[in-house]
Amino acid sequence: MKGIRKHLACFGLAIRDMQKFMPFLLWGKLISSIAEAVLQVWQPVLIAELFRLAADLEGGNLLLFKRDIVFLCICIGSPAVCTMLLRAVGLYGEGKKETCYGWKMYDFAGKLRLEALEKPEVLDSFRNADAAYSQHLAASRMFSYLLMDVRSVLVCVSTFFVVGSFSLWLLPGAVLGVLPYLAIDIFSEKHRSGTYRGQAGKRRRLVYLWKLFCTKEPVKEMRTMGFSGFLKEKWVAANVEVVREMEEVELRAIRWSAAGILLKNLCYVANVAIAVILMVRGELAVGQFAACLTAFGLLQDNLSLLSTFVVSFLQSWHHVEEYYDFFRAETEEEGQEDYRPFRREITLRGVHFRYPGGDRDALDGVDLTIRKGEHVVIVGVNGSGKTTLSKVLTGTYPACSGDVCYDDQNITKMKKNGLYRDISIVPQDFVHYNFSLGENITVSDFGRREDQAGLAKVAEAVGMQELMRGIGGPKAQLGREFGGVELSGGEWQKVAIARGLFRDSSLIILDEPTSALDPLVEYEILTNFLRLIQGKTSVIISHRVGICRHADKIVVMKDGKAVEWGSHEELKKAGGEYARIWGEQAKWY
Ligand code: ADP
Repeated sequence: MKGIRKHLACFGLAIRDMQKFMPFLLWGKLISSIAEAVLQVWQPVLIAELFRLAADLEGGNLLLFKRDIVFLCICIGSPAVCTMLLRAVGLYGEGKKETCYGWKMYDFAGKLRLEALEKPEVLDSFRNADAAYSQHLAASRMFSYLLMDVRSVLVCVSTFFVVGSFSLWLLPGAVLGVLPYLAIDIFSEKHRSGTYRGQAGKRRRLVYLWKLFCTKEPVKEMRTMGFSGFLKEKWVAANVEVVREMEEVELRAIRWSAAGILLKNLCYVANVAIAVILMVRGELAVGQFAACLTAFGLLQDNLSLLSTFVVSFLQSWHHVEEYYDFFRAETEEEGQEDYRPFRREITLRGVHFRYPGGDRDALDGVDLTIRKGEHVVIVGVNGSGKTTLSKVLTGTYPACSGDVCYDDQNITKMKKNGLYRDISIVPQDFVHYNFSLGENITVSDFGRREDQAGLAKVAEAVGMQELMRGIGGPKAQLGREFGGVELSGGEWQKVAIARGLFRDSSLIILDEPTSALDPLVEYEILTNFLRLIQGKTSVIISHRVGICRHADKIVVMKDGKAVEWGSHEELKKAGGEYARIWGEQAKWY
């Protein structure tokens, strides 16, 4: 019952969105279908009327005869006009689908809980929903097939009546020929779409593997390391698995369909035999017998059509469900209070966080205070929880338990957009946009994208004025994909830091910002950075301890816990984890 309600709910949503996004398409299809059906029925009536009038044209019927001839021409010509109009409206639908269904999806994606994107099933749902509207324009097709189904059902039902009016003995054969055949097709389609849905993860993996063959970085690595054969094997195996599963489904569908066709044809033969017997017994006139044969043929043809339309309708309906299923993903829980810029401190108390599907806490009871204006460096070995801490600190991922407060305002109570406006984050995996150099930096505060002085200031802080001049200024296109300039890893890191600095925020977080830079450049950039953000609060995450001398406070993470905090001198003297890491790294210099 719940399943049926869900199916119907999706249907309702699809019609509501069609009315909102493409009313022309919705009403155009409905009106043209009704018009076609009426004209189809009207045509034989008109012909009969014309025959009647033709018998007595002299008797003043000429005017009526002419009018009916015009109507008949309209009847014959209209379907072609309707089809043309529908094609034009369909084109309009194709053109609008991105701005309607696409934007609805991307608006919603903007509200998704970011940690939900760690879940494969959410990514599968994203892919299915995207394919549903972009490749199938599912709602529009579903509606078209629904109308075709209704038309075919009406023809089948009226044919039943015609057959039944000759003799009730003919009805069981007609019904038996129809129902199992239809049921088999519906069942096969259900099985087919269920299998296809179940393959979403495998298909996403196929797309991923395929992309490795045609994306620059993996192709380079594959060639130089010589493992293209290995990747091809993986891709072929994944492909074979997906194709084989679908083949099994189709083979089973063909077997069942063959049984359905056999039954349908047996019923046809049985009905012909019954009709012959009835005629021999004198219960059917010869003309009625001929009409029966015609009706059986009509039923067979319309049944095949109905079955095709029903299957296509169900296919589209499944796509529609995939589209609307996406909107069931968890969205970010928004607090009710406006964010109040913090004046004293950010505090974390007993914070735990575990990634979806993870088997241990990435943060295991973290207590920490960051005072306003403080420059904090978080150090620790790989996997100790530094990056996760920065995500929970900024509310990107909500803590599973414990409190994160900006002064006395709990992060769970705030409207996130206000908070995000006051924070600037340079993540480890920052994006290399194939935009101009200037856009790559100013994208963090795009309302100020014309602020050339601000741009020059941050470019100077990260030591990239020379680079900027060398490649043709801020307007130079970056990235080879569209024929621009490619930067080195270190140069891209400078761009990312400049992006973080350009944004006017009171808290700035740099996650491993200088890992690709040589130590001298690192030192220069980070000291410039600290100079430029005087008065702001900063958190620098690093597994290198070189920068720690300049920090107001160092926090050491180990196994998801903040195990030590204090100044460089204090922690060195304490002889704990920090002193150990410092000692280890000092050996290298
Ligand atoms: P660090 O920044 O100190 O290197 P992270 O905060 O990135 O460490 O990771 C802490 C722990 O969380 C690690 O054990 C890591 O395996 C796990 N982890 C990190 N990202 C994810 C993720 N997206 N899904 C599941 N586990 C993750």
